[in-house]
Amino acid sequence: MTDMDDDDSIAQRKMQFLYALRSKGVTNNAVLGAMEAVDRGPFIRGLFAERAYEDMPLPIACGQTISQPSVVGLMTQALEISPRDKVLEIGTGSGYQAAILSKLARRVYTIDRHRRLVQEARVVFDALDLTNITALTADGSFGLPEQAPFDRIIVTAAAEDPPGPLLAQLKEGGIMVVPVGQSDAVQHLIRVRKTADGLEYDEMRAVRFVPLLEGLGKDT
Ligand code: SAH
Repeated sequence: MTDMDDDDSIAQRKMQFLYALRSKGVTNNAVLGAMEAVDRGPFIRGLFAERAYEDMPLPIACGQTISQPSVVGLMTQALEISPRDKVLEIGTGSGYQAAILSKLARRVYTIDRHRRLVQEARVVFDALDLTNITALTADGSFGLPEQAPFDRIIVTAAAEDPPGPLLAQLKEGGIMVVPVGQSDAVQHLIRVRKTADGLEYDEMRAVRFVPLLEGLGKDT
């Protein structure tokens, strides 16, 4: 195979990737632009790297998964991010979702309970020159009080209920997106808006995420 064929097939796979996103309801142009700008390849290592442009979740280190691109797109779209926003993500994983957020927001804080995942994600953020992301190792259920409040919060692991500290750290007018449900059952994406009158919830689609767990993880 020549370099030309390689370039062509990568370009073609990327076209199909964007087409799949649109056909699954990711229609916001800013979100599609961010997903076109951030290559998913560098966030996936080893055996599965060649499947980076397929719309499916894939395994990453520490027994975790990088989310399905269309779910990343739908969650990002539901956040309605403005360029001045400060965003908190719980569940860095590969760092892919944080990278997409970083193209739309002013500043992104992302937390994972696995130190190894945070370290590997930082390497990719540096390589892609994504300088507005801060990645931290901690139990993200408690949020990040020292940087609160946040305009937007996204949780990419399933909780049985939206964690109280995260709701408390959401700005008035802010939006939080979180998968809610038992880890071994059907979960639903929930969008929470904080208004002057309280919290408004709306239920989006069914999803399947790894569980939000307590404490720090054992790296594998
Ligand atoms: N957003 C990621 C995918 C996340 S997978 C991506 O784009 O690749 C879910 C992640 O949530 C896992 O990496 C897991 O370690 C992390 N996680 C689970 N419970 C957590 C907690 N309490 N605090 C922080 N991270 C947590």
